Amino acid sequence: MTQTPKNIAIIGSGLVGSLLAIYLKKLGHSITVFDRRPDIRNITFSGRSINLAMSNRGWNALEHVGIDDEIRKIAIPLDKRAMHVIDQPLYFQKYGKEGEAIWSISRGVLNKKMIDLAEEQGVEFRFEEKVWDVDLPEAKVFTGESEKGEWKEYKYDLIFGCDGAFSRVRHKMQRRSRFDYSQDFIDVGYKELSIPPNADGTHQLDKHSFHIWPRGKFMLIAMPNLDGSFTCTLFLPFEGEISFESLQTEEDAKNFFKEYFPNVRQVIDDLLGDFFKNPTSALVTMKCYPWTYWDKVALVGDSAHAVVPFYGQGMNAGFEDIFVLNELIKVHGDDWHAIFKNYQEKRKPNADAIAELSYRNFIEMSSKTADPKFLLQKKIEKHFASKHPDKWVPAYSRVTFSSRPYAEALAEGDAQENIMQEVMKMPEIEEKWNSIEVEEKMLSLL
Ligand SMILES: Cc1cc2nc3c(=O)[nH]c(=O)nc-3n(C[C@H](O)[C@H](O)[C@H](O)COP(=O)(O)OP(=O)(O)OC[C@H]3O[C@@H](n4cnc5c(N)ncnc54)[C@H](O)[C@@H]3O)c2cc1C
Repeated sequence: MTQTPKNIAIIGSGLVGSLLAIYLKKLGHSITVFDRRPDIRNITFSGRSINLAMSNRGWNALEHVGIDDEIRKIAIPLDKRAMHVIDQPLYFQKYGKEGEAIWSISRGVLNKKMIDLAEEQGVEFRFEEKVWDVDLPEAKVFTGESEKGEWKEYKYDLIFGCDGAFSRVRHKMQRRSRFDYSQDFIDVGYKELSIPPNADGTHQLDKHSFHIWPRGKFMLIAMPNLDGSFTCTLFLPFEGEISFESLQTEEDAKNFFKEYFPNVRQVIDDLLGDFFKNPTSALVTMKCYPWTYWDKVALVGDSAHAVVPFYGQGMNAGFEDIFVLNELIKVHGDDWHAIFKNYQEKRKPNADAIAELSYRNFIEMSSKTADPKFLLQKKIEKHFASKHPDKWVPAYSRVTFSSRPYAEALAEGDAQENIMQEVMKMPEIEEKWNSIEVEEKMLSLL
């Protein structure tokens, strides 16, 4: 179904805003994207910026507008986890079936590329233009140098708020009656560190792995960049015995890295430099509803649903929002009210599900990885899945390597957990975890 061309404003030129601009421009609309930041393409940084994992849902959305091949050129496939467990040799865990991988991609490089692609289509970008207010019923955008200063006023047919977890557009919607909103910070923060390339430009660690150093209440992860470096993220409690608060001096931090991450000892100086230079950031789950105002304004991406990053799905979920929106446009054509209504009704349960799954992964990583009972349960599940791959698809695979709804992955995961609770009650389960008896019990419970 074709649409009557509209004059549309997108607030935010991040990953979600720039992809949405490409989609809407291809439908024939006139698109202006506002961002408070300067044009990211004029900012020079090495490839060592924050990186993200792109998985099926993200690729699916890129493929639909024919830009997946272009983006794959700047991404590195990771087909396994590399587990750096203390007192154990390094071991690898394949992610899924042959050919299944997540892709490491620099956020900055990806964002620059997407803005380029949107501009090539004729999208107008207005950088360094912060949106201070929106008039929801009139679809007006107000920008200016400061909140108290003089504002410019722009009138549109539609506005999309793609302005991230602390969205101004949402802020305006929050002031309306019956708007639900919640924001939960976890007590763990993160800091980005980097491991430089070898002198010959090659990677110091295996390049096709997502590296994890699980340490109970904290962990380090690393993903490769195209320039041979790795971007690491240290997740650590803000306060407590081992925390950002307790690592005050260079000596503290040096001892910390030496003790807990012995196999990155040769790059400790780089880690230390970053540790004191880079900011410590907080992690938040943000939920709200409704996501739309009549047929005028809609929230897409983190502005509607920010999640903690322990499933690597925030951007993927935002890209999937756009894909779903586009499918609804095909069905409802010019009826933007129906498009927005169906969009929020379809996406909200899935956004809540990925928020829950992401939070559970945080709990699992931070407090369960040292629990022998939990590890045994995981071992049984893995053993069973390898024998019955059609009957037991792990939640991780459902989320990462399929495009089935997140809510389905959550429900299936819960059903599997109920089965495992029964299995774990079996007498002497520690001894017979890989027996036919356990396998038959699981088959009977399925
Ligand atoms: C540590 C960490 C790791 C992550 N890892 C992954 C991962 O592996 N995989 C994954 O899929 N996701 C991951 N995510 C999540 C992902 O980064 C976000 O979901 C994604 O960036 C959201 O994109 P967005 O465009 O909605 O918002 P943002 O990226 O926040 O972009 C918002 C844009 O709006 C602009 N803006 C804000 N306010 C205004 C205003 N008032 N006026 C004008 N412009 C404004 C901002 O300048 C910005 O450009 C991770 C997040 C974190 C914190």
